[in-house]
Amino acid sequence: MKILIDNGHGIETPGKRSPVWPDGAQLFEWKYTREIAQRVALALQKQGLDFEMIVKEDTDVPLSERCRRANAIAAEVGVKNCLLVSIHNNASATGTARGWEIHTYLGKSKSDECATIFWNEAKAILPVGTKMRGDWTDNEPDFDSNFAILRDTKCAAVLTENLFMDNPDDCRYLLSDEGKAAITKIHVQSILKIT
Ligand SMILES: [Zn+2]
Repeated sequence: MKILIDNGHGIETPGKRSPVWPDGAQLFEWKYTREIAQRVALALQKQGLDFEMIVKEDTDVPLSERCRRANAIAAEVGVKNCLLVSIHNNASATGTARGWEIHTYLGKSKSDECATIFWNEAKAILPVGTKMRGDWTDNEPDFDSNFAILRDTKCAAVLTENLFMDNPDDCRYLLSDEGKAAITKIHVQSILKIT
């Protein structure tokens, strides 16, 4: 099984960053998700798993191009032999929302089973009391979302929203060594269980 890692936004994407906190810290989503993606890649490499970064650039690669790249790889190795994982940080208008969530495309597919594995790992790995934001309308924890990276890719695909970068408590945890290790571990352990 080949893992396609999508680390989302680019350096020049507007927004997609935390406020500057009183201690001067700030999270940039493009940078943070690239760091997590690199950590995940290193761990997968150690485990001998096959993977590829969809976005090797720091710049904002349009969704259409990211989907095209993913589909080209999937066509090579077989759609059923691929899992795309898109890594993000969440944000709310108010900065008060917190927690972890996962998205798949509308309807039922293999992606939903993969998302449930991610959910269970996140629940086990994140500190006790971390808000787990599920959409249980279909008895599964993932949100069904009409996102291009989920809709226009032909292989199984999940998108993780790893806590809220504009919430001071979530963001402090994200930027901590412990937080980075936990977010990485969620992805690595889930991928190991799926493959
Ligand atoms: Zn994002």
